[in-house]
Amino acid sequence: MILSRPPSPRCPLSPLSPLSPLNKAITMSKHYERFNPPKRILLGPGPSPVDDRVLSAMAAPLLGHLDPLFLKCMDDVQSLLRYVFETENRVTIPVSATGSAGMEAALVNVIEPGDDVVVCINGVFGERMRDIVERAGGKPHTVEAKWGEAIDKKKIEAALNSCRPRVLALVHAETSTGVLQDLSGLAEMARAHEALLIVDAVTSLGGHPVGVDRNQIDICYSGTQKCLGAPPGLAPVTFNERALDRIRSRRTKVQSWYLDITMVEKYWGEDRTYHHTAPISMNYALFEALRLIHEEGLESRWARHELNHHALVAGVEAMGLRMAVAPGQRLWSLNAVSVPDGVDDARVRARLLDENIEVGGGLGPMKGKIWRVGLMGSGSTRENVVLVLSALQRALKADGHSCGKGIEAAEAVYAQTHSGAASSAT
Ligand code: PLP
Repeated sequence: MILSRPPSPRCPLSPLSPLSPLNKAITMSKHYERFNPPKRILLGPGPSPVDDRVLSAMAAPLLGHLDPLFLKCMDDVQSLLRYVFETENRVTIPVSATGSAGMEAALVNVIEPGDDVVVCINGVFGERMRDIVERAGGKPHTVEAKWGEAIDKKKIEAALNSCRPRVLALVHAETSTGVLQDLSGLAEMARAHEALLIVDAVTSLGGHPVGVDRNQIDICYSGTQKCLGAPPGLAPVTFNERALDRIRSRRTKVQSWYLDITMVEKYWGEDRTYHHTAPISMNYALFEALRLIHEEGLESRWARHELNHHALVAGVEAMGLRMAVAPGQRLWSLNAVSVPDGVDDARVRARLLDENIEVGGGLGPMKGKIWRVGLMGSGSTRENVVLVLSALQRALKADGHSCGKGIEAAEAVYAQTHSGAASSAT
């Protein structure tokens, strides 16, 4: 639409400031169509597909960020977040930004300049943690594993013994490689050194058990766009009393104003003090996504993610492809499939996208070597497993590669599980 000068008003307006030549050209010549994205099936590393109930929650009328009705919604978000994190932590809130802000909030609140921090790295997100530790003035002591493998706990112990660690930080679900890190025993190791345990559960929360209290995790964070089933935009975090004590005894101010959890918490806690304007519609979305999880039940949701993962793996292997991660270390939510020799990774993914199916490629050293197939949140379904296997089969055939019968193998997993469930019910 081309705007013209408004009719001469009764009450004189201030003279219009002249538009720049560029703005004049845009005003005169450009018409911007409404953006109508296609409905892609998001089976990559995130964002994951979002239930229609979540999308329509975002279209609800806005409330003020201190409106009593919105405050009630915030309280319900917090109690449902405690449910998914499996924690009684009072400070359990969604940070108003994506998962990386959750990571940054977890680290910068407890790290002070000069602190020794043991950081585990077996992919992109462990590297990002190290970067944040350095920016916060901490001294990272890294424990590395080959990308695609879990971190050896003996190496973690050795790193903890080699310095005076204030924090042990690691990624539970490494999205860049599809590796699950076992959390058992880590809190004991950290506590023996009076270090805090920080866990990244961005790709596990809502799809895998995380068990914040059970595993004595001091700080845990996630993101809305993976197994929680909401769009990207919020980062749920939880801090226990050990972590809060550490913050209270800091010698220096938290280096980030926006992410200082003691200030953010005053808005989410009883004080209700303004800190920043909460992203209202994103909180509606998160609340609806959490309501869906609550209706399904956490255990059923984990079982659904596990079953669809096993069906996908059976299908992939029957097609003659290989999983990139060893059994026992595989994520249910993010499946790393090795790209066979001679296959053009990008061409196969482009063929899938032509069918409106998104899968991810590898990052860093895994570029061109793996496909990352996400089965997260409402995207983790039998229908999507069959869909992605058949699309992959077609794409590989179109590229001249023969494949075995993937769908039959996947269906056999469902049949076995259902007959097992039926016989145990009789
Ligand atoms: N940590 C992990 C394990 C992730 O997978 C991601 C994103 O994929 C992040 C952190 C960062 O989240 P975001 O991209 O939402 O900022």
